[in-house]
Amino acid sequence: MDRDRVGALLAEWGEPAYRLTQGVQAQGAGADTWEQVSSMGKALRARLSGHEPLWTLRPVERLVSRDGTVKWRLELADGREIEMVLIAHARGRRTLCVSSQVGCALACRFCATGSMGFGRDLTTWEIVDQALLARREAEADGARLSNVVFMGMGEPMQNLDAVLAASEELHRPAPGLGLSARQIAISTSGWVPGIQRLAGYPLPLRLAISLHAADDETRGALMPVNARFPIANLMAECRRYCDATGRRVFIEYLLLDGVNDDPADARRLANHLRDGRFHVNLIEYNPTDGGFRSSRPERRERFLIALERAGIEASVRRSRGADVAAACGPRAARATA
Ligand code: SAH
Ligand code: SF4
Repeated sequence: MDRDRVGALLAEWGEPAYRLTQGVQAQGAGADTWEQVSSMGKALRARLSGHEPLWTLRPVERLVSRDGTVKWRLELADGREIEMVLIAHARGRRTLCVSSQVGCALACRFCATGSMGFGRDLTTWEIVDQALLARREAEADGARLSNVVFMGMGEPMQNLDAVLAASEELHRPAPGLGLSARQIAISTSGWVPGIQRLAGYPLPLRLAISLHAADDETRGALMPVNARFPIANLMAECRRYCDATGRRVFIEYLLLDGVNDDPADARRLANHLRDGRFHVNLIEYNPTDGGFRSSRPERRERFLIALERAGIEASVRRSRGADVAAACGPRAARATA
């Protein structure tokens, strides 16, 4: 629900502010439209229906993977589409991968969202509604929404006001979603001004950096954003972040066959991570039209061993939901109506 717009309408009509909370609670309890918000009188429900939808987004497709991962295609009020993915873990935990923008301006070569170009920023409430929908789905399945990661479509640091406002709502106790701040992760392609801002932000959100290469030439060829914020500059900012917050930074590293997966790359990567507190997640590539191949398992293993020998903490993150194209990367919902 666009709480700014609904709040303004309620104020204009002389309705009490708690009507807004009633709407939010009804969303969580399963209402799809204002007509189903039984805590409100019929006249008010009808009036709201004529002005503003209860949800800022509408599921248009829902795909369930063999491993239990669920991917939705969601239509926004202006007809644009985004995706969100809910990943199932052990003990009834679910991680939601949320979108922060329609498309993305940063054009990373391996990313399907990047090839769409930039559509627009999502509003705070379009982000929060993804989480409300995911929580509803998790609970219907007897599970719990335990983590939210900004790893769907878009570069969250380029829409940071909305991302932070949404994170506050994800963290806030009921009628917020009551997640711990450490269970909310912002992933960035290395947008330095956003990292600086997050370092001074009171909520201890997690920070993940999509590094994907250990030298500027390789990274620049994969990620045009590297021309603006080269590796040395980015890593210096990450160390400042570690010092300022006392928190770890997660380094995401996509293993691409013959591009960045040599043990020498692992050693170069380790050199960048000497000072500071880092954890490396090695990510399996999900094929897109970019013309890359995923590293073979033995190359992945050698890379991991080289990192560990260099004293760097690392783990391999398996791709989930690949059969429904839910894993990060192959997001290609339509950017425009
Ligand atoms: N824009 C942010 C967050 C969204 S992308 C960022 O780049 O960090 C989320 C993650 O998915 C990033 O680590 C990104 O590099 C990764 N990703 C993109 N395309 C992928 C692909 N084809 N296979 C696997 N991971 C991919
Ligand atoms: Fe944008 Fe992230 Fe995809 Fe790069 S990887 S194009 S920053 S969404």
